[in-house]
Amino acid sequence: MPTYEYMCKKCGPFTQQRPMAECELPSACPECGTRAPRVLLTAPGCLTMSAEARQAGLKYERSTDGLHDPPPYLRDPAGWAKKLKRARKLKRAQARASRPA
Ligand SMILES: [Zn+2]
Repeated sequence: MPTYEYMCKKCGPFTQQRPMAECELPSACPECGTRAPRVLLTAPGCLTMSAEARQAGLKYERSTDGLHDPPPYLRDPAGWAKKLKRARKLKRAQARASRPA
């Protein structure tokens, strides 16, 4: 079932899966139960995006719930690899230092 967006006057936007035939009908807010009208929250941004960008964005939103930043190793792969290398080196040095002479 496709997911549609609705706007509760009290609680704000929420999404709900509904059959396509019912998508234009108001949906009960999961917070307060008020019937909320359908809104198109994602439409304005999507209109200016290419189809490819939209697909990529959708995929990203689905994989992260749209709530989280990408993990550091995705944001800066080169920097992350360097950091890992340094951390490993440090660990080795510490292991050597703690070894009894
Ligand atoms: Zn509500």
